[in-house]
Amino acid sequence: MKLCMIGTGYVGLVTGVCFSDLGNDVICVDRDTNKINQLKKRIIPIYEPGLEELVLKNYKNGRLKFSNNLKESVIKSDVIFICVGTPTKKNGNAADLSQIYNVSKQIRSSISKLKIIITKSTVPVTTGDEIEKIISQKTSKKLFSVVSNPEFLREGEAIRDFYKPDRIIIGTNNKKSNKVLKKLYSPLTSRGAKYINTSRRAAELIKYASNSFLATKITFINEMANLCERINVNIEDISIGIGLDKRIGGRFLRAGPAYGGSCFPKDTKAIVSTGDKFKTNLSVIKSVIKSNENRSSLLLKRVFAILKDKVKNKKICFLGVTFKANTDDMRDSSSLMMIPSLAKKGAIITYYDPTGLKSVFSKYKNVFYLKDVKTAISDSDLIIIHTEWNDFKSINFKKLVKNKNFKIFDMRNIYSSTEMKEQKIKYFSIGC
Ligand code: NAD
Repeated sequence: MKLCMIGTGYVGLVTGVCFSDLGNDVICVDRDTNKINQLKKRIIPIYEPGLEELVLKNYKNGRLKFSNNLKESVIKSDVIFICVGTPTKKNGNAADLSQIYNVSKQIRSSISKLKIIITKSTVPVTTGDEIEKIISQKTSKKLFSVVSNPEFLREGEAIRDFYKPDRIIIGTNNKKSNKVLKKLYSPLTSRGAKYINTSRRAAELIKYASNSFLATKITFINEMANLCERINVNIEDISIGIGLDKRIGGRFLRAGPAYGGSCFPKDTKAIVSTGDKFKTNLSVIKSVIKSNENRSSLLLKRVFAILKDKVKNKKICFLGVTFKANTDDMRDSSSLMMIPSLAKKGAIITYYDPTGLKSVFSKYKNVFYLKDVKTAISDSDLIIIHTEWNDFKSINFKKLVKNKNFKIFDMRNIYSSTEMKEQKIKYFSIGC
């Protein structure tokens, strides 16, 4: 099939590359000329395990193309995926749909034969209706259908998630579009992926309901961890004890920092805004958002307690700054709040992240990126394990840290507190 991905970010690039690998002709379009020029030179703009090999292979065999020309790419394609960003609006909780509507206006002048237009971006319920309205102002409704096909990939596992999705949700009541999409996804459904055809509005809501539920699970276990810290109970025992109940399930039950990333924070806010629009009080999700927003300050208070309120000139090392491992995505990472707060209090911050220096911290004169774990931790008074990269899971702290009075705050509970005690390391973790 001839496909076009509009928006070549985490979702558009991964999905486009994987579809080309399944034998389709794919054009990945972006308005960012620098990104497209880099991709044409085989430079991959994001960190995603396994992505580079797939891009190189399919670019070389000619099934994958990159372009800045949206109009021309739409004309050449039968199925068009909209994969642009849907961030939170500057004022309030609602999703900013300007990129979606902009693209819809650009597409409508390039439709002269039947096109299936798909929203892969996460969009609030009824956005598909709006897109249909915008396009039909210039094009006959017979020439296009608007389908919702929300994306569930996880950064860091995106390629695996494409090939082995838990489910494929197709929101349309247009039989022809459904048939085409069933065929497009048949290499995945033939290997066991579940294909669910729903109404367009249901598909849009499924995405927000899923993300809100997962954010709720994380927030629930984080609050349980707060309680555990007061009563001398280990949160890891609680996670295992409740996670083994099949009705609950063990995933997303690891206590840690506030949830972050490009999806949960904005999607929980957007669904609350949708609830308000349709006069429905989503009180559970509202309190999840509040609890999560308080979490970084709460963990910061623990940092102050660990350092006995003496933060000025203390050398604090962050291991990992991205919101989770195996991605370079910094969007809404809790380090964005914690590092500047500590730097403003006079701490000297070093950090190491396997995905490299983060320009967002460059404006602080007392925040330094160091090139490896060893150099980053060697002088530290306090080491904060912020992100659960494998690189941080078996460090010989005793050997590598020169300051013998160093402390560790393990925000991911990677290490065993018993083993740390045996080594006489001053070790603090979450919910313990
Ligand atoms: P991103 O910011 O990485 O990429 C979006 C891209 O769209 C950018 O490269 C931008 O330049 C491009 N773009 C914007 N307007 C354009 C236009 N008019 N023409 C061409 N290109 C344009 O965003 P992302 O993380 O890939 O997310 C995209 C959507 O997918 C969002 O709605 C997000 O919520 C959803 N989603 C993201 C993930 C994830 O893990 N990142 C997972 C599932 C769903």
